[in-house]
Amino acid sequence: MVEARAQEATHGEAQTVDVAVVGAGFAGLYLLHRLRKAGFSTVALDTANDVGGTWYWNRYPGARCDIQTVDYSYTFDPELETAWQWSEKYATQPEILRYLGFVADRYDLRRDIRFGTRVLGASWDEARERWLLTTDNGPAVSCRHYIMATGCLSQPKPPEIDGVHDFRGEIYFTSRWPHDGVDLRGKRVAVIGTGSSGIQSIPIIAEQASQLTVFQRTPNFALPAHNGPLPADRAAQLAQDRNGLREQARWSLTGVPIPPATEFSWAMSETERRERFEKMWASGDLVGMLTQLWADQGVDADGNALLADLIREKIREIVKDPETAEALTPHDHPFGAKRPCLDTNYYATFNRPNVTLVNLRNEPITSITANGIKTDKRSFDIDVIVFATGFDAMTGAIRAVHPIKGRGGKSLDDSWANGPETYLGLTVAGFPNLFLITGPGSPSVLSNMAVSIEQHVDFVVDRLAEMRNAGFTTIEPTETAQAGWSRHMADCATVTLHRLANTWYTGANVPGKPQALMPYTGGVGPYRGICNEIVSRGMLGFRLT
Ligand code: FAD
Repeated sequence: MVEARAQEATHGEAQTVDVAVVGAGFAGLYLLHRLRKAGFSTVALDTANDVGGTWYWNRYPGARCDIQTVDYSYTFDPELETAWQWSEKYATQPEILRYLGFVADRYDLRRDIRFGTRVLGASWDEARERWLLTTDNGPAVSCRHYIMATGCLSQPKPPEIDGVHDFRGEIYFTSRWPHDGVDLRGKRVAVIGTGSSGIQSIPIIAEQASQLTVFQRTPNFALPAHNGPLPADRAAQLAQDRNGLREQARWSLTGVPIPPATEFSWAMSETERRERFEKMWASGDLVGMLTQLWADQGVDADGNALLADLIREKIREIVKDPETAEALTPHDHPFGAKRPCLDTNYYATFNRPNVTLVNLRNEPITSITANGIKTDKRSFDIDVIVFATGFDAMTGAIRAVHPIKGRGGKSLDDSWANGPETYLGLTVAGFPNLFLITGPGSPSVLSNMAVSIEQHVDFVVDRLAEMRNAGFTTIEPTETAQAGWSRHMADCATVTLHRLANTWYTGANVPGKPQALMPYTGGVGPYRGICNEIVSRGMLGFRLT
C-alpha cells in the first residue's frame, strides 16, 4: 500500500524544496532555523499536531527530563538563553513543551512545518539527484537533501501480550498520553513496565489510583532527583561564565559541563567511597552519579560493583518489605550499562498499602482478559492498563518510513538487515543526501541530547552550505568509511560495560531486532573532534559529486 503510494507520487506534483526535514522536535526545530539562515528552501513534516517531538507526545504524569534543564537547552543563540528561565532543576514535560513552542514562535518556525503529516516512504531518484517523500496528508515532497530528525525514542513499542484487544477497561501508553489528562481517581490501575516512564509516573499514579499493580520484568537503578530550584552554585556558575560552561559541555564525554572523576576506587578507603556516594545521592544528579564517583566505575566491573552495591543498599533501606525490595533490586547489569532513571519517591511508593509489585521473572503475564491481567499464578481485576513499555529505540522511527530506497533502488531494510551501519551516525553508504540526526552510531542517547543535536545540525547544515557553494550536488559516505566507523564503534564499546547488559541500547527490548550496541560510546567531545577532523581533512570518508 505504502509502496503503491510511493510509486504514484511524482516529482512534478510534489512540493519542491532544497531540504526536507522529518520531525519537529528539538532537532527539527533547530534544523529549520539553521537551514533558513543558510538560504535553503525547506519544509518540516511531523505526524504531531504541533512542535515538541518527545515533549509533545510524552505527557504522562511525572514526565520530566533527567539532565538538568539548564544544560538540556539550546545554546545557539545567547539571547535565547537569557530570554527563557527554567523554573526547576529538572523541568516537567509541560514546561519543556512551552520552551520548544517559545523557540518556534521566536524564530517563526511553524510556517514551514506541515503538522499532522506522516512521511510514509522515501526514494532516491538517481537521474534527478533528488529524494521523493510520500506522505499520508497533502502532496509528496521532492528535495535535494532528506534529513531524518525522527527521534531516538519516538517509535513506541507495541505490547507483546495476548488479549490486549479483549480488555474492556481503559488502555493508555505513556508515550501517547491523552492531551486532556486521565482521571485515575478511585480506579484499579496496572502499570506494565519499569523503565524511565514507569519510574516517573508510578509514584503519581499511586497517589491517584485506589489500587496500583506494577508489573515489572527487569528492575532498574533509580536515583532520587531531589528536584527543586536550580542549585545556587550552578546558577552562580552560569551567571559568571555561561559561554565557558557551554563550551565545556560540548567537549565533555556526556554533553554536561562536569568533569569525570580521575581517582580510582581502589585508591580510596571504603569510608571515602561511601562519603562520595552519599553526597551524590543527596544531590540528585544522574550524570554526576554516572561519571563523578571514581574513574573506573564505567569501565571496570569491580569498580562498578562497588557503586551498584551502594545503590542496592539504599533500595533495601527504603523498601520495607524484603521480598519487594529484592525484586526491585537490579542484579543483572552494571550500573549505567542500562539507562538508569531519576525518580521522585519511586522506591518508597512500594511501601504504600495500595501498591503491589508483580515480579514477572517469577510469574509471567499469560494474558490480558476482558477484566484484567492474568499471570501464571494469579488474576488481577483492573480498570485501567498503562503501558510504559518503551520504544523501538534509535532505529524504530527511521525504519518505520518504509521503504527508504537509495542508490539502485536498494532499501535501507536490506542494508541494515544485520543491524544498523552508518558513518558517524549521520549518513549511510548507498543513500546519498540522506542524513540522520542522532542516528545509530552517534553519541545520542548516551549524551545530553540537546548538545548532540546542536552539533549534528551544525555539522550537516555547514556541509550542505559548503557543498552548494562549491557546486556539489551529492554527498555519500564510502563503504570503507562506514565499515571503519563500525569498527571504531566496536572498539570503543569494548572498554565500556555496555557489553554486559541487554537493553534498548542494543535492541534487546524488541523481539527479532538485530542485536548491536547502537549509540557511540566514545563520548560527545571526542566525537565532535572526529567530525571536525573529517572536515579539516577534506571530508575524509565522504564522496562528493
Ligand atoms: P523527537 O523529539 O523524538 O522528535 C521526533 C519527531 O519526529 C516526533 O515529533 C515524531 O512525531 C516525528 N516523526 C517521526 N517519524 C515521523 C514520520 N515518519 N513522519 C512524520 N513525523 C515523524 N534526552 C536528554 O538528553 N535528556 C533528558 O532528560 C531526556 N529525557 C527524556 C524523557 C523522555 C520521557 C523521553 C521519551 C526522552 C527523553 N530524552 C532526553 C530523549 C529525547 O528524545 C531527546 O532529548 C530529544 O527530545 C529528541 O529530539 P528529536 O527532535 O531528535 O526527536
